[in-house]
Amino acid sequence: MKIVVLVKEVPDTYGDRKLALETGLADRTGDRVLDEICERALEAAITLGEKAGDTEVVVVSMAGEAAQATVRKGLAMGAASAVQIVDDKLVGADVSLTAQVLAAAVKRIGFDLVVAGNQSTDGSGGVVPAMVAELLDVPQLTALNTLEVDGGTVSGERAIDGGTARVSAALPAVVSITERMPDPRLPSFKGIMAAKKKPFETLSLADLDVDADAAAQPWSIMVAVAEKPPRAAGVKITDSGDAGEQLAKFLVDNRLA
Ligand SMILES: Cc1cc2nc3c(=O)[nH]c(=O)nc-3n(C[C@H](O)[C@H](O)[C@H](O)COP(=O)(O)OP(=O)(O)OC[C@H]3O[C@@H](n4cnc5c(N)ncnc54)[C@H](O)[C@@H]3O)c2cc1C
Repeated sequence: MKIVVLVKEVPDTYGDRKLALETGLADRTGDRVLDEICERALEAAITLGEKAGDTEVVVVSMAGEAAQATVRKGLAMGAASAVQIVDDKLVGADVSLTAQVLAAAVKRIGFDLVVAGNQSTDGSGGVVPAMVAELLDVPQLTALNTLEVDGGTVSGERAIDGGTARVSAALPAVVSITERMPDPRLPSFKGIMAAKKKPFETLSLADLDVDADAAAQPWSIMVAVAEKPPRAAGVKITDSGDAGEQLAKFLVDNRLA
């Protein structure tokens, strides 16, 4: 079985995350890490492979060149190989272009199962896995809290209002997983050393035959971005018997009522 895991580099969630005011894009100059939800997706894929045997796990990322060290962590955790799509034309790519690029890469690699996070911690679009499934013309199981493969079927549980639904689909398929999946393993020293020798392929848009020309894409483009205003001090109401009136006036004056 061949499992492709979609992994994304994100600004460290413990750091101060903000938008670059000149570009409107996430400021990626600070500490960056492999998104934790992607580490969980990779953990799920490796665990499936360990149970099923004869499984190859490939990590795929669309990211700037500087993300190579982050993607390599996926190899240290246990993936057999990595593919990174790097191209200047992808700076500021939105979800639709990202999905096109990832789907083209997955098609080129070949797959039985694609595992992704349900939502990244920076863009938080939560739609890339569904778009990739649509472009690959395969079924998708969304927001899984458990994941199993039995023969040619992938299945798992997802939370629904007041309960749990069990869902399944025939392979090949795309699944997205949630934070309820088990914690990711830490790369061992042996894993880190082995990662240096594992295959790491870098592809461009031309390799994937994807046209990133804005005119050819339904791109969403940020038209304006501004610094968040500093928090103003709150208004203190002292009760001299008319606190209710003061409160009502405050709500009306601030158009909150
Ligand atoms: C150089 C460069 C700069 C970029 N700058 C920004 C930026 O500043 N802000 C921004 O939001 N986007 C940026 N992107 C695009 C980025 O790839 C986003 O990931 C994309 O728009 C998806 O949005 P999302 O994170 O909301 O997706 P979601 O739908 O929330 O992601 C769900 C899951 O899809 C998979 N996935 C999503 N994106 C990728 C990816 N790139 N590679 C592999 N798997 C992925 C992961 O498994 C993820 O958990 C940039 C891309 C490049 C190449």
